[in-house]
Amino acid sequence: MAESMQGLKRTHRCTEVTKADIGETVTLMGWVQKRRNLGSLIFVDLRDRSGLMQIVFDENDIGSQGFEKAGTVRSEFVLAVVGRVEARSGAVNEKMATGELEIRATELRVLSEAETPPFPIEENSQTKEELRLKHRYLDLRRPDIQRNLMVKSRVATLSRNFMAEQGFLEIETPMLGKSTPEGARDYLVPSRIYPGSFFALPQSPQLFKQLLMCSGYDRYFQVARCFRDEDLRADRQPEFTQMDMELSFVDIDDVIEVNEKLLAHLWKEILGIELQTPFRRMTWREAMDRFGSDKPDLRFGMELHNVSDAVKDCGFGVFTGAIAAGGSVRGINVKGQAGMPRKKIDSLTEFVKGYGLKGLAYLAVQEDGSYKSSFTKFMTSEELDKLVNAMDGKPGDLLLFAADKDKLALETMGALRCELAKRLDLIDQKKFEFLWVVEFPLLEYSEEEGRFTAMHHPFTMPMEEDLQYIDTDPGRVRAKAYDIVLNGCEIGGGSVRIHQNDIQEKMFECLGFTKEQAQEQFSFLLNAFKYGVPPHAGLAYGLDRVVMLMLGLDSIRDVIAFPKVKDSSCLMTQAPSPVAAKQLEELGIEVKKTDKE
Ligand code: ASP
Repeated sequence: MAESMQGLKRTHRCTEVTKADIGETVTLMGWVQKRRNLGSLIFVDLRDRSGLMQIVFDENDIGSQGFEKAGTVRSEFVLAVVGRVEARSGAVNEKMATGELEIRATELRVLSEAETPPFPIEENSQTKEELRLKHRYLDLRRPDIQRNLMVKSRVATLSRNFMAEQGFLEIETPMLGKSTPEGARDYLVPSRIYPGSFFALPQSPQLFKQLLMCSGYDRYFQVARCFRDEDLRADRQPEFTQMDMELSFVDIDDVIEVNEKLLAHLWKEILGIELQTPFRRMTWREAMDRFGSDKPDLRFGMELHNVSDAVKDCGFGVFTGAIAAGGSVRGINVKGQAGMPRKKIDSLTEFVKGYGLKGLAYLAVQEDGSYKSSFTKFMTSEELDKLVNAMDGKPGDLLLFAADKDKLALETMGALRCELAKRLDLIDQKKFEFLWVVEFPLLEYSEEEGRFTAMHHPFTMPMEEDLQYIDTDPGRVRAKAYDIVLNGCEIGGGSVRIHQNDIQEKMFECLGFTKEQAQEQFSFLLNAFKYGVPPHAGLAYGLDRVVMLMLGLDSIRDVIAFPKVKDSSCLMTQAPSPVAAKQLEELGIEVKKTDKE
């Protein structure tokens, strides 16, 4: 039977008890991790969010009734224990924070009993994630998840305090907003008052934070929930948290400076690591050419080489064909891997085919200097030497090549570089390599839509020196946009915004909006710009990702209390779910029958 807490007050969390408390009486409350009976003694490890404490029940201390009760507690029972702090009588447990101490119980109350949980509550759980997410309230009891969420809470608190000190105001922006066709798919919320009309949940507070700048708030900050209805990838969630900011009267360097300070502060406070600032900066073009990625992982080398020049006149049609079609040939030099078995090379070929590449050409520079390759027979020995030289190939090296359209060749080799680093264990997991990627293209041509789309978003300022190409060669225009990259992941991004109506209108024109469409979608922004708007810029972090990388975790779900799974559903609450006919009727919504039904 559950007993009451009345008359008892918790004095400490489990690991808040220290050696200095020896001899004191304390009251702890928490969950039973495990119980062991050792003849005349019963040991219970009590757990709360701080950690574990060993409780000893001895008939002499707690009386026969209390001792008997202690014998009935099982895992996950909730207890209140009053007792004396003592140095451990038995062996010290070095793995436990309180391993030198124990509590000799003088009073025990069972505050709640518990059924046997469907899986053990333990660190580094081996239980399938699906089962854990179904019972997330139990999974969240595990010490590793608790630690992750505690770190996330600290990151948010430290950031808030830091931003306040830097003159930022925390201002909320609406959750119920207007749907816009740019960017990802919106989550829609039907309006009851206006049947057939919908709000959209925010993909980001972008427009509102710009309006706050128009209204003179100067520096804005928000820990903001955002929603994007996209097909999920491993590190994506349909709702996620941004640390969002916007600043007035600033340019790129000002935004970068504040953010380097913020990141250095977080890393120092949470991990005790001094980050070297300023961080490196690299243009988007350089990042693509050297790493085949706009978010290069700088924890290892193995950079890409453009060998198009070296092979443009050679006899190998795969190379020359790609170049003639306007593409390129890109290689990576896998040092010391000339002996890689054929089977493994084949599996790399399979890997690149997953990206749409037709094949992977290889050349191994043998220890005796001779070449073993998939294409030697098509090239003269001079041509081969030239290629190996261009790759800085030395005996023992394995050279891998992709020949295709520029974008495909680069991105595939970029992905292969990361895959090889993983397979060959080239990554120092302790490193934190920060990088600013700057000068992104403003626009990106979408084959699918047959028009240009904004690479960042439609409010990003073109680089002044490129404005001249906006009509004639829009693909060439670079943007005043920047991403902050950590260990090969984009953790945040932002831009200087357009604050001139004429440039904003031009931008909409490039994106294929008519004047009327632009007015209809964004009239409030365009109107606001008519009444005095400061130059402004901003940035947003994916908070979940920052915390994930900070803690060296692989899954974003490990830093979100109640995450969704791949198909955007919640295994615990079973959301989304059908609703009552009456609710739909009130909203004026009729649901089409689907095949699933
Ligand atoms: N709102 C942008 C995003 O969500 C970030 C920014 O430009 O500040 O990516």
